[in-house]
Amino acid sequence: MGAAQVQVRQGFAALYGAEPEGVWSAPGRVNLIGEHTDYNDGFVMPFALPHTAVAAVSRRTDGRLRLHSADVEGGIVELSLDDLAPESDKNWTAYPAGVVWALREAGHPVTGADVHLSSTVPSGAGLSSSAALEVVVALALNDLYELGLKRWQLARLCQRAENVYVGAPTGIMDQTASACCEAGHALFLDTRDLSQRQIPFDLAAEGMRLLVVDTQVKHAHSGGEYGKRRAGCEQGADLLGVHALRDVDHAELDTALERLGDEEEVRRLVRHVVTEDARVERVVDLLKAGDTRAIGPVLTEGHASLRDDFRVSCPELDLVVDTALAAGALGARMTGGGFGGSAIVLAEEADVVAITKAVEDAFATAGFTAPRVFEAVPSPGATRLA
Ligand code: ADP
Ligand code: MG
Repeated sequence: MGAAQVQVRQGFAALYGAEPEGVWSAPGRVNLIGEHTDYNDGFVMPFALPHTAVAAVSRRTDGRLRLHSADVEGGIVELSLDDLAPESDKNWTAYPAGVVWALREAGHPVTGADVHLSSTVPSGAGLSSSAALEVVVALALNDLYELGLKRWQLARLCQRAENVYVGAPTGIMDQTASACCEAGHALFLDTRDLSQRQIPFDLAAEGMRLLVVDTQVKHAHSGGEYGKRRAGCEQGADLLGVHALRDVDHAELDTALERLGDEEEVRRLVRHVVTEDARVERVVDLLKAGDTRAIGPVLTEGHASLRDDFRVSCPELDLVVDTALAAGALGARMTGGGFGGSAIVLAEEADVVAITKAVEDAFATAGFTAPRVFEAVPSPGATRLA
């Protein structure tokens, strides 16, 4: 039994005075390529982190929901299932409560739960601590109440919880990654029909590493900038007469951009989304061909597009990318929604120490908060631990 599992189980027993019926875990994720494509019906390619949310859960029959996080100050939060209402809760409890709300809204007979959880996924770092929280609770309730929902269906319900209950307009990537990823693989996900392919992604076997650099700049996902980008993409699709930007053919991009005339802002957004979808397909092709090192420049191109066209980077993320590349990285880019959060760096194993030091030195020189650098190994998706 892992240490986290033991701690969460013991924490549950101490709080609620009984052993939990089970213990589950769900990981955070990092997106290899395919940013801001998931709400445009496009492609994404996340893989699961070794960092997880672990939850001990038992059923209740009295319509009450009790929630506790080892990582948040304050005691048990107790809610009545009948009182759960969208956007009624601005605290962390909105994520698990939203999942219960979404399950019940969809007609599933959930009659209450006691939940105690703890997470090693850094919060607000663009690594999807929120999806880990949602998915771990959804999987626990699916098992305990024998709902028989498939992983992709749980992901959908979790997305609904985050969009409607929490009020954060995010796409389907984070929840699907947490629910469906497999160790040693990246998940090639078509966000239009939710079809998935597990693509072998084992960098260590080829002498490479993937670093995650958490800039410690907290992004605000539900903030206005994200909403503006989303609205701009919808406007672009409307102007081009397509259902979603996914439907703009990469080979016809120039023609499409011409048709947008002097809508400069929309043009930049469209150019990013269409080229980004093409980059995901290129990365899939390169990995399938065993040409892993060649994905480096594609990642770096993706960063330039997010910085210059989509305009969601920030000085800290740009500094990671520029410094890592100058220190010999094969490729680097911001990952996640942007405005802070994390960057990823693809590097030869032999260069990892020098790159890490270069990034840390550059942050110190710039007067930025020291970044957190760790290696990301493609890890398992959500699972029942006990
Ligand atoms: P991200 O998903 O990129 O980490 P979000 O803003 O989407 O960032 O989600 C972060 C929020 O998730 C936190 O503000 C908090 O409400 C909740 N959260 C994350 N981890 C925990 C935890 N261990 N315990 C309680 N709440 C958590
Ligand atoms: Mg999130």
